[in-house]
Amino acid sequence: MDLKKLWQTTLSELELQISRPNFLTWLKNSQLIEKNKEGQIIIGLANNFAKEWVENKYHKIILGILRSLDETIKGIKYTVITGPTKEPALKIRNTQHEKINKSHPSFPELKIDPETNLHPRYNFNSFVVGSSNELAYAAASAIIKDVGKKYNPFFIYGGVGLGKTHLIQAIGNEIKQLYKNRIKTKYVPSEKFVNEVIWGIRNKRMDDIKSRYRNIDVLIIDDIQFIGGKERSEEEFFHTFNALYENNKQIIISSDRPPAAIPTLEERLRSRFLGGMIADIGLPDYEMRVAIIKTKLQEQNSALSDDLCGLIANKVRKNVREIEGILNKITFYRENKSDDLTPAIIEEIIDSSIQQSFKNISPNQVIKVVAEFFETTPNELTARSRRKEIVEPRQIAIFLLRDILSLSYPNIGEKMGKRDHSTAIHSYEKISEEINKNRDLNQKVILIKELIYKQ
Ligand code: ADP
Ligand code: MG
Repeated sequence: MDLKKLWQTTLSELELQISRPNFLTWLKNSQLIEKNKEGQIIIGLANNFAKEWVENKYHKIILGILRSLDETIKGIKYTVITGPTKEPALKIRNTQHEKINKSHPSFPELKIDPETNLHPRYNFNSFVVGSSNELAYAAASAIIKDVGKKYNPFFIYGGVGLGKTHLIQAIGNEIKQLYKNRIKTKYVPSEKFVNEVIWGIRNKRMDDIKSRYRNIDVLIIDDIQFIGGKERSEEEFFHTFNALYENNKQIIISSDRPPAAIPTLEERLRSRFLGGMIADIGLPDYEMRVAIIKTKLQEQNSALSDDLCGLIANKVRKNVREIEGILNKITFYRENKSDDLTPAIIEEIIDSSIQQSFKNISPNQVIKVVAEFFETTPNELTARSRRKEIVEPRQIAIFLLRDILSLSYPNIGEKMGKRDHSTAIHSYEKISEEINKNRDLNQKVILIKELIYKQ
């Protein structure tokens, strides 16, 4: 079997064993470059992080398949294919020879498309797929191939900064690119939708607003949780939704929580969402954080050693936006102070910015956010009542006071309505244990934390 054929056969088998998005992300453009006399195979991959990912995750599977096809194969080496069309190989930049260009003139200026409202920066090329978003990504890919027919509506939820906006805009951009003007796409943040409805009512122009939306083939609504509870907007959204849905138009919705957890969402809207495809995006795991860091650096034509990337991935876990923030700080440091980065410097940059994000949070703010999340008040939360609905929110508040602010137990007891410190200990331990077992609770705690960070 020649090498090309051998690799094709291997890939088609591999495709059955790993998820399609992963397959596309990591193995697209891969090649079997060489087989030497000792039975060593050399596989070329598109870039460094594909190499790392494939080596760490799929080596065994690939070797197994290859051996089943050719038993003289002994081992595999992975390498990055470098060529004129490929991205530059990652290397640490040396300012002495290379002046960093602050305005990045090689990037064309990107603007929001006035017709679709989409930002071109959000595309699939720059979207890293990993275990936390592969289902959402797979659904997105299916929708693009079969607009309006599959997975309608598509409801995607997850915490702040995890890539919801990026993914839903990428769907829109891809559809626009593939189908040009044959399919009319519109992206709307739900606040904008609410404002339009309010404007329409005030100026008696609701008909204009209605017709604007009903001519659309793909409607992308971001952060739908903001519509919940705003009656007239909800009503209007529901009618628009129905009109589009009945005509097989595609609807894509994002939210920071699942439909069932938007308390003020009208029942009929909620059940419509439940009738489509619901996917969540979670926190990226270590490998994915590394891949994201490398992708972002590459986008800036920059790079860091594997050790430093690993260090960042280890320390920065909150969300992708936080990773971007840290990378920006590192770039800033390189451009303005020194390009000689050591682990100690990186740690210092990370620590100082993480501390900053906690610095301004007070215990009362934590309590307030928890209360709002559960649609109650700080007073209820700290009161004596043992009402069942309030017990868990109270325990979560206690947990967070300890977890985020590291308050002492007596202090927490005091803040939570002069309770005994043993109550604080019990609550903290209960939630710490529970979040490892109960996915829903874990999700709630993550969401609340994010709301607190956003303050
Ligand atoms: P959300 O809408 O969920 O709050 P965003 O889509 O705004 O999050 O993502 C926050 C930032 O992180 C954006 O700059 C986005 O490009 C980036 N980002 C998020 N997820 C990914 C990913 N999987 N790959 C690459 N960049 C990502
Ligand atoms: Mg968003």
